Amino acid sequence: MSEVYEGLKNVVEQVKETCAKVGRDPDEVCLVAVSKTKPADMIREAYAAGVRDFGENKVQELCDKMERLPQDIRWHMIGHLQRNKVKYIVGKVALIHSVDSMRLAAEISRLAVLNNVEQDILIEVNVGGEATKFGLSTEETIQFVKEAAKLPNIHIKGLMTSAPYVEDSKENLPIFHKMKELAVDISKENIDNVSMNILSMGMSQDFVAAIQEGSTMIRVGSKIFGQRYYFNQGEQM
Ligand SMILES: *Cc1c(COP(=O)(O)O)cnc(C)c1O
Repeated sequence: MSEVYEGLKNVVEQVKETCAKVGRDPDEVCLVAVSKTKPADMIREAYAAGVRDFGENKVQELCDKMERLPQDIRWHMIGHLQRNKVKYIVGKVALIHSVDSMRLAAEISRLAVLNNVEQDILIEVNVGGEATKFGLSTEETIQFVKEAAKLPNIHIKGLMTSAPYVEDSKENLPIFHKMKELAVDISKENIDNVSMNILSMGMSQDFVAAIQEGSTMIRVGSKIFGQRYYFNQGEQM
């Protein structure tokens, strides 16, 4: 049995166990397999095991893989996105997780209109308030969502956050809790063209804690594909 298959099986089992503990339906939690830096062959292994959602954080790599791999894969752009690269992915990826400025939202909308496509997006929130992370502050998110919701051909489906790196994932419980509360607050506003069904939170280190606090989409890389090795580039997180 391959390492990818083993890793995947363990993650899926942990998702089920956690859901059972907190009384949630495991079907509510979408697993996005984060395949950045990993070869197409490893993605095919996960695909063969039934995974259809894959996450990448660089546009070039995402587009290369999209071309070579099965058409029914739902690709997720999870990394910081520059406006000049939106044109390569708009209408082609299932979900852009990392919308963190009005200029970026407006550019996605503009190109979606131009290409006559619709694009689902998430708003990235820096719940932990870390200086090194992208994302809006929790305070500015509601107003931002109200504004961005008016843009044509884009649809806000929820929020995304990356919690700090911690030794014990329990330390991130308050962050995930705050994120869920924020989503509930936004839902109550009943904003046209906005749903808060997707809470994209939880990675290899802390997806269990994230599910406990209401995550509906976990982004798991190294626990499925193994550790990543970087040569010339720092990890974009
Ligand atoms: C790399 C990455 C992940 C996955 O990280 P792992 O620790 O390997 O599970 C999740 N989310 C984002 C935004 C990432 O860049």
